[in-house]
Order: sequence, then structure tokens, then C-alpha cells
Amino acid sequence: MLGSYLFGVHAFEFSSLSPEERLKKVVASFSQIHPQAKDEFDNGMTMAWHRSPFTLGCYGLWTEETRAKHFKSVSQMDKRVVMAGEHISYIPAWQEGAILSAMEAIRQINHRAVADK
Ligand SMILES: Cc1cc2nc3c(=O)[nH]c(=O)nc-3n(C[C@H](O)[C@H](O)[C@H](O)COP(=O)(O)OP(=O)(O)OC[C@H]3O[C@@H](n4cnc5c(N)ncnc54)[C@H](O)[C@@H]3O)c2cc1C
Repeated sequence: MLGSYLFGVHAFEFSSLSPEERLKKVVASFSQIHPQAKDEFDNGMTMAWHRSPFTLGCYGLWTEETRAKHFKSVSQMDKRVVMAGEHISYIPAWQEGAILSAMEAIRQINHRAVADK
């Protein structure tokens, strides 16, 4: 069960607590709606996405300006390198964006393979 889903300042504040303190807070808050949660809670985990070394955040963000300036070049295959992911899409932060981006990367690889035959 997802107990807390925080963004921005609230996320920074919350993730400054230790994992144990975060869980305590979530259970206390949850128990206001479901009083039995205090007794029935078994275990949980928390994740601060901005501290994950491989993503440094939850998702990519574009502004109209950065998209207009950079999207075309980052989404184009460059020699043997092609990037894919939610961040290389028009639907960042969603699996749909990641899948569409992967399909586009595959299309480009296939196009290159066919052209190089
Ligand atoms: C808390 C949360 C909730 C979400 N909820 C939803 C939801 O309800 N619905 C939805 O559609 N989307 C949701 N998303 C978004 C969705 O999970 C992402 O958009 C999707 O997983 C992105 O896929 P991806 O392949 O682009 O990247 P990822 O799934 O992040 O895959 C990238 C992979 O590359 C690895 N990696 C990074 N650097 C390196 C490296 N140097 N060497 C080797 N491997 C590396 C990472 O470890 C990771 O496994 C959620 C995301 C989060 C964080």
C-alpha cells in the first residue's frame, strides 16, 4: 500500500528524516483514517528518488524552451549511440513515454541496419 507520495519542498522535508522516522510519520497519519493500522503495520520502505545515484530524481522535465532547443538532437541516433527513456519523450514521468521512446530508438536502429546492408 502506498502511504505517502510527495513532491517538491514536502518531499525534501520528508526525506530529510531517517527511513524509520518517515515510516513512523506515515503510520501515524494513516492511523487517523484506519486506527487499526498502528497495530497491524508490519513493515515498509521509503525511497527518496532525488538521492538515487542512477536517476538523481523521479523523472525528466522539459520546458517549452529546452524542448525546442534540445529535444531533436537528444532523440536522434548519433553514430552508434541512441538514447531512450521517459525523459526522451513527450510524455515524461510515464511508462507510456518510456515505451514510445524505446520504440522510436528501435525504429532508428532498424532504419540504420537496413540502410547499412
Ligand atoms: C514513485 C514512482 C511512481 C511512478 N508511477 C507511475 C505510474 O503509476 N504510471 C506510470 O506510467 N509511470 C509511473 N512512474 C514512471 C515510470 O516508472 C517511468 O517513467 C519509467 O519506469 C521510465 O522507464 P525508463 O526505461 O525510461 O527508465 P527506468 O525505468 O528508470 O530505467 C532506467 C534504468 O537504467 C539504469 N541505469 C541508470 N544509469 C545506469 C548506468 N550508468 N549503467 C547501467 N544502468 C543504469 C537504472 O538503474 C534503471 O534500471 C513512476 C515513477 C516513480 C519513480
